[in-house]
Amino acid sequence: MMETWIPLASIPADGASYTIDSPEFWNACFAEFNLPCKVLSPIAATITVLPQEDGLLLMGSLAGKVTLPCNRCTEPSEYTIATTFETFEGFPPDTFFLPAKGEEDEEVQDPFDETLIRQAAHGRGIEVNPSALAWQEFSLALPVKPLCSEGCHGLCPTCGCNKNHEACNCAGPEGDPRLASLRGLVIKK
Ligand SMILES: [Zn+2]
Ligand SMILES: [Zn+2]
Repeated sequence: MMETWIPLASIPADGASYTIDSPEFWNACFAEFNLPCKVLSPIAATITVLPQEDGLLLMGSLAGKVTLPCNRCTEPSEYTIATTFETFEGFPPDTFFLPAKGEEDEEVQDPFDETLIRQAAHGRGIEVNPSALAWQEFSLALPVKPLCSEGCHGLCPTCGCNKNHEACNCAGPEGDPRLASLRGLVIKK
């Protein structure tokens, strides 16, 4: 993922906003995560980073329109994304990078999201990467099983034809057509 790490020291106390709308960023994410997603109208995330005493408050919105292949027939299905989000990320512990030699770190370290916030090496302090949150929120906004329509008939498992557009003579879930003559048979007890 294309990362843009912003030093906490450069963020004013009343917060700063970042817009993540470069097509290069989104396309690089789709490629990295093998997401067969096509953009119909540009994806834009706006994230406000508000420093707190013990972490960062991140608030944002995300909008755009994409297509994903239908889970049943693979035809493109359209999705409009319009969502808002808010999350808090605690600061990483100071000792995270260079623990003192020979000393056990007895402090319980709060888990934090390393793709989103990090303790930079060489005393550069804490940095935040709002792009990671934009990508997380985008992934969450997508359907788990995209469908072109609720009633999509899907592809025929035998010949591969799209059953929304054409009919085929393959054996359906009813079973083998050669057994059709036996289907009316009533077994007497
Ligand atoms: Zn479909
Ligand atoms: Zn078929």
